Amino acid sequence: MKTALLLSGGMDSIALAWWKRPELAFTVDYGQLAATAEISASAAICSALDIPHTVLRFDAKALGSGDMAGTAPDPNAPASDWWPYRNQLLVTLVAMKAVATGVQRLWLGTVASDGIHKDGTPEFFENINRLLSHQEGGIVVEAPAIGLRTADLIRQSDIPRSMLAWAHSCHKADVPCCHCRGCNKHFETLQELDADVATGD
Ligand SMILES: [Zn+2]
Repeated sequence: MKTALLLSGGMDSIALAWWKRPELAFTVDYGQLAATAEISASAAICSALDIPHTVLRFDAKALGSGDMAGTAPDPNAPASDWWPYRNQLLVTLVAMKAVATGVQRLWLGTVASDGIHKDGTPEFFENINRLLSHQEGGIVVEAPAIGLRTADLIRQSDIPRSMLAWAHSCHKADVPCCHCRGCNKHFETLQELDADVATGD
């Protein structure tokens, strides 16, 4: 089954690429502030794995909100990085391109902690998979790591730290701001993995 990965260049999707080796990868610049760094990180992992990498550009910045768009978060947002209908948009944009290349399955690097957003839950993936696979092209949408924490996905993937170092997690900028939810998760995960090294696991 020809499979593509929606690659954001963060720890989760990079580890998933290393673990599952998709045949194609897509990164979307949808107007998020960290797009340039996400594309660079994604290109580096694809080069290392010899995976063809396509960058799609679609400026939805005016429709975004919160940390990734550089605006105040919506008062009803579950977290400061909420961007309305973000995964729905990205799945749709990538599927529009992927269907023309014969892709039959699309993976996202969603992990357990993404469940703080509705579009990071198993229910979302059941629904979006039902919607896409029902339409012409019949693309299946899956999140293979949705039951895993980030550190456990990284352990499972066996990605070398030299490759993980490419990951860009900051929601606010191309250079890590060191205080957003993405940066906090990045450094907490590295600390947890460092503890493995210290204990010899
Ligand atoms: Zn940050």
